Amino acid sequence: MIQSSGLAAAVAPRRIGRAHYYPNVTDAEWNDWKWQFRNRVTDLDQLMKLLPIPENERELRREVLRDFRMGIPPYYMALIDADDPHDPILRQAVPIAEEYTYRDVGDEDPLGEESYSPVPGITHRYPDRVLMVISNSCAVYCRYCTRKRIMYEDAVPEMEIDRMVDYIARTKTVRDVVVSGGDPLTNSTAKLESILAKLRAIPHLEIIRIGTRVPVSLPQRIDAELCEMLQKYHPLWINVHFNHPRECTPEAARACDLLSRAGIPLNNQAVLLKGVNDSVETMKGLVHGLMKMRVRPYYVYHCDPVRGSEHMRTTIAKGLEIMEGLRGHTSGLAIPQYVIDAPGGGGKVPVNPNYLLHYDPKKQRAILRNFQGRIFEYYEQLPEEEMLQRRLVASANATPAAGPIALTSSHAPRAPELPAAATPAAKEVRTRLSRAAANGNVNGKGGAKSNGAHAANGTHAGGAPAPQGPGSIAPAPPATETVVGKSKWAHRGRARRDPS
Ligand SMILES: *Cc1c(COP(=O)(O)O)cnc(C)c1O
Ligand code: SF4
Repeated sequence: MIQSSGLAAAVAPRRIGRAHYYPNVTDAEWNDWKWQFRNRVTDLDQLMKLLPIPENERELRREVLRDFRMGIPPYYMALIDADDPHDPILRQAVPIAEEYTYRDVGDEDPLGEESYSPVPGITHRYPDRVLMVISNSCAVYCRYCTRKRIMYEDAVPEMEIDRMVDYIARTKTVRDVVVSGGDPLTNSTAKLESILAKLRAIPHLEIIRIGTRVPVSLPQRIDAELCEMLQKYHPLWINVHFNHPRECTPEAARACDLLSRAGIPLNNQAVLLKGVNDSVETMKGLVHGLMKMRVRPYYVYHCDPVRGSEHMRTTIAKGLEIMEGLRGHTSGLAIPQYVIDAPGGGGKVPVNPNYLLHYDPKKQRAILRNFQGRIFEYYEQLPEEEMLQRRLVASANATPAAGPIALTSSHAPRAPELPAAATPAAKEVRTRLSRAAANGNVNGKGGAKSNGAHAANGTHAGGAPAPQGPGSIAPAPPATETVVGKSKWAHRGRARRDPS
């Protein structure tokens, strides 16, 4: 039994990749972005030749396509595993039955872009930067797109582009423009250049950004000619839109490399999507894939409540869990900012796991949580008593390194652990500390403000009562656990597991 099913698996070729979908296409065609664009999968009959579509879903899917178009370049199509109905690439580009179910759920314009629009195509929401929509055509049409509404209209007329440029020219506060769409890189290089040249002629416009999904969906479009043109309009930045590690292909890497070599910094804006990238593992794979292509993860957007994409939205808890799973667990450079675009035009709101559990500016005291869930007490300024003690210890110490550092870790009664320096000052410190311990002053509730033992016992993320009564003395924690950090004032106290 085992043998025969193993054999079957080995024999059945995987239905994925160019060789499966487009076996007869030449390299010249495949690498020509115009061929890729022309041969996009745009209707259900084409799709059914490539992917199994259940009989009972065909009409639903056809209906969906009447509402929001499909466009899948052969290159992107080839990334889909035809045997996996839940394939993450498929979910992004292929209309599925749920899109029909949720066709009336959600908004046409969830971000209120139209209401912040001084002239058609411009959204001016933030003081110093504007969004400029120059195209309503994309290489791939993403099923969750926030700007579905603009895709029904015809091409953006030249006159409108001039009005947009004019708005920026007469609005002196605008120093940054996000050129978006649709996808600006679906324009011809000459057309795009004419727009960039007009923008660059505006003296107060400092930077131009282009938002594009072309390096992901049609990387062949990024060629030497395009890069040569783009680099005339520096400072120019490009935001790309990778959502899944499987999109980080050699072709995409080549496209990103060409853009980087043209001096264009690349940042990624991903969308958190159910069934696509809603796990720590996948998101980690994505950010690592991006870093290898020298693309900096910039934003992870919570999926907007756009009409027909309810099935792709996750909870905020999921987004937070993913951010938790990244911070501290991988390179800080690889960590994007998670944002939710506030409905109706509130703009991007950063959403972060809570690492500052408590902060009292009067007492100059904070409770911090690290990536492992360990809890730390942090003082902006040490209480006076402790400063004195430290000074004494420092002056008493024959070997400067050992004493003070040992003390930073905790203020549990530590007399036995003090270095055996025979100077009078060291003796005084030891006497004072053991006296304080005997009086119960070492624990935070006992009177004098001390730190380490308090963090170890008294404070609690959820504000639960200290497990010990006032004045009780904490047992000295084992030495290996006590030195949590060695910065000037910070990281004292024994770490604990986050109780939640
Ligand atoms: C996202 C966005 C921007 C750019 O925001 P940054 O946080 O600077 O990247 C500008 N205008 C609008 C309307 C936007 O939605
Ligand atoms: S490429 Fe961007 S603008 Fe185009 S459909 Fe996808 S998300 Fe929308």
